[in-house]
Amino acid sequence: MGALVMLRALRNRAFSSSQSSPVSSICRFISTLVIAEHEKGSVKPSSLNALAAAGAISEGNSISMLLAGSGPSLHEAASQAASSHPLLSQVLVADTDILMHPLAEPWAELVRLVQQRGGYSHIVTASSSFGKNILPRAAALLDVSPVTDVIEISGPQLFVRPIYAGNALCSIRYTGADPCMLTIRSTSFPLPLISADSKSDAAPISQVDLSTFSEVVLGKSKWVKLTSQDTERPDLGNARVVVTGGRGLKSAENFKLIEKLAEKLGAAVGATRAAVDAGYVPNELQVGQTGKIVAPELYIAFGVSGAIQHLAGMRDSKVIVAINKDADAPIFQVADYGVVADLFQVINELLEKLPERN
Ligand SMILES: Cc1cc2nc3c(=O)[nH]c(=O)nc-3n(C[C@H](O)[C@H](O)[C@H](O)COP(=O)(O)OP(=O)(O)OC[C@H]3O[C@@H](n4cnc5c(N)ncnc54)[C@H](O)[C@@H]3O)c2cc1C
Repeated sequence: MGALVMLRALRNRAFSSSQSSPVSSICRFISTLVIAEHEKGSVKPSSLNALAAAGAISEGNSISMLLAGSGPSLHEAASQAASSHPLLSQVLVADTDILMHPLAEPWAELVRLVQQRGGYSHIVTASSSFGKNILPRAAALLDVSPVTDVIEISGPQLFVRPIYAGNALCSIRYTGADPCMLTIRSTSFPLPLISADSKSDAAPISQVDLSTFSEVVLGKSKWVKLTSQDTERPDLGNARVVVTGGRGLKSAENFKLIEKLAEKLGAAVGATRAAVDAGYVPNELQVGQTGKIVAPELYIAFGVSGAIQHLAGMRDSKVIVAINKDADAPIFQVADYGVVADLFQVINELLEKLPERN
């Protein structure tokens, strides 16, 4: 796989030689609020990656996880988080119907409220649609500049993030006021395996006092509905294997071959923007700069040219296999295994030879 160009840039927000050295503030007490998403009584895997990122900020970091919404599934997710993750110091639960849906206005207000009471040095969330929606608004309310898409944490104020669609990496020193707010790329922060003997007592669960929080925080946006594919397939952002189809599939009907292959491999389905724009599959399957960022063990791309915006979303995959009839397609520059062939011939052969999954 092609090596990334390293670009070291220093973001010196409001920092001059007359100000105190950032090193002095590294010694201060570090406490982090992780804004988490939950679904069906469990914390989403990307929020657990945000927890792992919080653990990387500094040793002895006191980490709180914030969960909000209403109903039994919220409390199930809170107990699950509290009992299964030794990194956590406490779980905060904001139980109100106002926070049932991920609307930025009430959520950002909640983050401001919790920050005012907790005085956290850092706030972290995953760079998911949820995090990208909420964190910038919360940062504006708290009058700080967020650092987005972090892929490496080298210290409490030192971060690395990709720029130029992933073609360069930028090192950032945060010198702004507290809290330092981050969105992290979940694929860069795997959750460490928790051995049975390292498990500690469950973290305490506290209710956030919402007496000053009311319908007033509802802004101009309104929740309409959630449309999502009801499928048994693994989540695209966390799957170990991803099978992606591009414009080379030529139709929605043909794209079903990709879905069949994914089923046989227990893989998630991805698509290029060209395939999404052509209506072969819904937008939630798009991988790339303006889609999902994935880094599975195995990424198989059928009929994908390898445009820079697509590579930005999958170039960190461990093994990349590309099937394209054009030997000069740019995807072959990042592929570990390349097959110059007609994709339909290859898929049909794979479908024939691979056993059904039970
Ligand atoms: C601001 C911006 C953001 C963007 N964000 C994204 C993004 O997030 N994700 C993304 O994917 N794109 C994104 N794009 C679009 C991107 O530039 C490309 O247009 C897109 O990735 C191309 O998709 P594709 O590879 O499916 O199609 P094409 O580039 O048309 O490639 C199709 C490939 O299929 C091959 N092929 C055709 N028939 C066969 C066959 N029978 N067998 C084998 N191979 C075959 C062809 O040789 C070709 O290489 C973005 C663009 C812009 C400007």
